[in-house]
Amino acid sequence: MTAPLRIAVPSKGRLAAATTQLLRDAGIAVPGDDRRLLVPVEEQNLEILLARTDDIPTLIRDGAADIGVAGGNQLLEHGSAGIELLTELGFGACRLVLAVPNLSAITTKEQLAGARIATSHPNILANYLDANGIVASVVTLSGSIELAPTIGAADAICDLVSTGETLRQNSLRAIGEVLRSQAVLLARAQDTLDPRIAILQTAVESVLAARPKRYLMLNAPDVALEAIIALLPGLDAPTILPLARSDMHAVHAVVDAAELPRLLHPLKEAGASGLLVLPIEHLIP
Ligand code: AMP
Repeated sequence: MTAPLRIAVPSKGRLAAATTQLLRDAGIAVPGDDRRLLVPVEEQNLEILLARTDDIPTLIRDGAADIGVAGGNQLLEHGSAGIELLTELGFGACRLVLAVPNLSAITTKEQLAGARIATSHPNILANYLDANGIVASVVTLSGSIELAPTIGAADAICDLVSTGETLRQNSLRAIGEVLRSQAVLLARAQDTLDPRIAILQTAVESVLAARPKRYLMLNAPDVALEAIIALLPGLDAPTILPLARSDMHAVHAVVDAAELPRLLHPLKEAGASGLLVLPIEHLIP
């Protein structure tokens, strides 16, 4: 038998819960509160490697894991050579921003020339400063970046934010955006021909595609069939099935969950009955 496919999963932190849920929804038996950091899933010939998210790009590049999840920012920071970004996963959204204390005279990124900028993303920041012709010094810290100006360690910071609440709480204001990021599915570039990678990627993508959709089923009297079909959004034609009763048809369609609230009442008014809305586990358009 071939060696098990090793999947690197964030063991804790912001991306851990959503990654575990996504893989489980995709049919991968990610263990629950297992204390081991390398857990075999024998029936699927897989191994789950629970790792620090920030280490996952390096683990994949070095071949210690075949596929895994990390932040797009972490992929760029650790260097994406040898790693293939397979899929953007739609969670873990954040921005890497430049920020200064509210009282600072600096209002534009150009005014950062000569400043000390604290960050845990020194490579991304150095590239950004280079690309913008700004000469500044990069102070590398691994945590509590937002405290650096207060304690006199830097004049500005380059840090991840999602809501901006941490900046506000620390009397900082953003003056520029370096990067937008979200969680990504990664594999070693040389492994992407392995069919097991494609199988896993398709399973994950079909879950992501299914999440915002619902399966709508209803019964339509034949006299109202056309009017009911006209109410259904989307480009795909609905499925029309005959019912045992000769004067009615069943109508099945995939619809956006967000459309449902304004769809249900008109469908009912148009004569639809037996309306059912079901979740969809996988969808391949
Ligand atoms: P963690 O493991 O909790 O340190 O975070 C891992 C990743 O979560 C980061 O590298 C980002 O890609 C992502 N993330 C999403 N929102 C935020 C945020 N507000 N602050 C820091 N990281 C975030």
